[in-house]
Amino acid sequence: MTQPTFFPETAPDIADHRVESIAAASARLQFAEPEEILEWAFDEFGDRISIATGFGAEGIALIDMAVKINANPDIFFLDTEFLFPETYELRDRLEQRYSIRIRAVTGEYSAEAQARQFGDRLWESDPDLCCRLRKLEPMKAELNGLDAWVTAIRRDQSDARAAAQSVEWDSKWQLTKINPLVRWSRDEVWSYIRARELPYNPLHDRGYPSIGCTHCTSSVSGPEHERAGRWRGHKKTECGLHGSAPAPVISVPRAGASGSEDRV
Ligand code: SF4
Repeated sequence: MTQPTFFPETAPDIADHRVESIAAASARLQFAEPEEILEWAFDEFGDRISIATGFGAEGIALIDMAVKINANPDIFFLDTEFLFPETYELRDRLEQRYSIRIRAVTGEYSAEAQARQFGDRLWESDPDLCCRLRKLEPMKAELNGLDAWVTAIRRDQSDARAAAQSVEWDSKWQLTKINPLVRWSRDEVWSYIRARELPYNPLHDRGYPSIGCTHCTSSVSGPEHERAGRWRGHKKTECGLHGSAPAPVISVPRAGASGSEDRV
């Protein structure tokens, strides 16, 4: 039985000169506007940088800014096969509006193959494994060979994102991470979208401030946090794409295989 590994047990150290370069850029751009950060990133990394989007409100603002600086930026999304129809429709609208292509990145397992291999409704029995198979594994392959990636995270989205910098070394994925919207609030994002009448996911108007896979996204109400509808009923709050340390290699029992384990 094959023993797939996900992350190395020990991440290689980043070279000193890269630490200095990233630290200098981070310091210089810590209070910069998102467009300035994006402009620097495109200049610095050329065709070795990609934008990752989940089509959230922040991602829409980010794409709008990016295409005004770089008419044809490389943009991709993780297509788990479990996204809402409204999300795919938004992808189509963005591609049409900006005359761009947003690449779908998929994992090794189709939904059917995942169910056969790991059991039905893995997102309920083991959402961490489901995210690894459908998001983290394909993300690892996608970022391999790049020097930088751009995200749309904000600091106030979650505790895990509270310390994010505009420019930082991503120890999990071993490349530079650019977070142009890191200082923005949710209101600032929506002001940007409304002022420019940008398209957005209609689910946002139906109580879904944060939208992921259909199986793991529910609406929020009242004073709930904007990400309270993600993985409701589980301790899980992040899919694992945004972290400061390499994920541990874990052992996962194969569905129906008594006593046998795969390392994922
Ligand atoms: S968000 Fe849910 S359905 Fe999507 S990959 Fe993660 S666990 Fe699976």
